[in-house]
Amino acid sequence: MEVIAAPVFNEHNMIKGAVLVIYDITELKRLEKMRKDFVANVSHELRTPITSIRGFAETLKEKQHDEQAAEEFIEIIYKESHRLQLLIEDLLELSRLEREDFQLEKERFNAKQMIDEVLPQLEQKAAKKDLDFTTSISPDTDVYADSDKLKQVIINLVDNAINYTPSGGNIHLSINEENERVHILIEDTGIGIEQKATSRVFERFYRVDKDRSRNTGGTGLGLAIVKHIVEVHQGEIVLESEVDKGTAVHVYIPKP
Ligand code: ADP
Repeated sequence: MEVIAAPVFNEHNMIKGAVLVIYDITELKRLEKMRKDFVANVSHELRTPITSIRGFAETLKEKQHDEQAAEEFIEIIYKESHRLQLLIEDLLELSRLEREDFQLEKERFNAKQMIDEVLPQLEQKAAKKDLDFTTSISPDTDVYADSDKLKQVIINLVDNAINYTPSGGNIHLSINEENERVHILIEDTGIGIEQKATSRVFERFYRVDKDRSRNTGGTGLGLAIVKHIVEVHQGEIVLESEVDKGTAVHVYIPKP
């Protein structure tokens, strides 16, 4: 709470009262804290791979290691620099989405055709992990949306399903029309998310298990980006999950 007071004078220049302006700055403080936390998180996320890259590059420079160790160091440097690149791409994407002049490039397109364009890459990733990936897309469903952004939503959600489902599990993607909305559903039989974390996973850099997310190459920004894209489409996202059973993410996009 912030209070500003100013006296009010009568015609004889005597104080006859005061004007008090009371600002409720709770929301401002909350936003300021969010901004500071975000900057601190970004710095930390950038510093971790950079420290590792520098350390291994220095060791390589000293040339006191055998051939096999050198290969391992180079592999780490490659992986960490790739992670930095993904992180920077996700940060740029978030900042683009948050710009006031950001405009969706909406068009009408067929859902099945859109999925056919991303299916090979998703099937390939799922197959690498020995996951059974199936789809059921109603053939006549048209969507009115930014198709690149909607593809990104689906790729991010299926990527998560792949990353957090142990080998041998199932992933199912379905798209149907439901009460004037298009319903996109991604289900997995993975590790699930405990109840108290289900609302927090949409926060930037929130991860249930940091090490696991890092190992899979996750930036911790995927669901924040997904939620943003869904919201700018006036859509809705609902996550249901049960630990050790699996996760279902429902995305609803209004029909035009
Ligand atoms: P990350 O890059 O870490 O995957 P996300 O923003 O995509 O970041 O997801 C945030 C966190 O939510 C993940 O670190 C993980 O703990 C959890 N999560 C997301 N999707 C799933 C899923 N399908 N199953 C289990 N946990 C998930």
